[in-house]
Amino acid sequence: MDALVRPIASAACDLDRRLVVSPSPFETPFALGHEAVGEIVDLAGDDSALRVGQRVVIPWHISCGTCDNCRRGLPGACASVPRLASYGTSAGGLWGGLFDELVRVPWAQHNLTPLPPSVEPFLAASAADNLTDAFQAVRPTLAAQPDAEVLVVGGTASLGLLTVLSAIALGAANVTYLDVDEGRCAKAAAAGATVVTAGEYPDRLDGSFDLVVEASASTAGFRCALMSTRPGGTCVVRSVYFAELRLPYFALYGTGINLVVGPPHAGPHVPDVLKLIDAGTLDPSPILSGPFSYDDAVEILLDPPSAKPVFTRSER
Ligand SMILES: [Zn+2]
Ligand SMILES: [Zn+2]
Repeated sequence: MDALVRPIASAACDLDRRLVVSPSPFETPFALGHEAVGEIVDLAGDDSALRVGQRVVIPWHISCGTCDNCRRGLPGACASVPRLASYGTSAGGLWGGLFDELVRVPWAQHNLTPLPPSVEPFLAASAADNLTDAFQAVRPTLAAQPDAEVLVVGGTASLGLLTVLSAIALGAANVTYLDVDEGRCAKAAAAGATVVTAGEYPDRLDGSFDLVVEASASTAGFRCALMSTRPGGTCVVRSVYFAELRLPYFALYGTGINLVVGPPHAGPHVPDVLKLIDAGTLDPSPILSGPFSYDDAVEILLDPPSAKPVFTRSER
């Protein structure tokens, strides 16, 4: 079943800034934007779970819900569409962008998550990608090991900071944030993290980090994250790199770490993120800027504020 959805709150993914200013492997032109809350304008087919007028989170990925990968909780690798089929890039075909006025959502019942009425679309737009990506980077390890020492290596507008907020919302006792940007470090400290502000990413950070989340989008940050993971620990790489990266392989052979890469499979985890926002346990507002008008999106994406921009328009 398809839905037509009108984005009413769209956030800029950290990747969007790079797509605007630097080369990518995605063939242009394509419509930008893959984090949004929208309002359902039309539904093809009968579905009691969704209704016209409902506010929903539109995940970045296009997925069917029934293929083998979707059933294993991996909608970002859906086998019914080209690899990395998504809004806002041309990696797996052209599906439109979530800064558009209207988008088609195939397999709508599977893809869309209704927004609790008490949650502001402005706060939930990033649940489509970065916020849920951050949440799911830390949740599996913290569920298995609540006292895990967590290191977040930040370097982009929102992903590292959203990871800090998620880890603390999930009860992590020891969260360290490393970044080269003083403003982001101040936000991480305000959220409750121990902060290391570096002139450049060190070779490794001393500590016994059970879980390291790499969100720096920097090859030096990537190396530091790998080298800072304790033996048997887990390093989750959430940055997107288009090139092949060098691995300090023999050093890693010596520690023996678990390396997690790949796209965030946001959809199945959006409801849990929305519950935490609704409860006030997870409040992304210090990481966001705006709301801005969609009319100003081009100017703002060309010269973005330090915090993650969110664009809103009124409901019909
Ligand atoms: Zn993204
Ligand atoms: Zn699928």
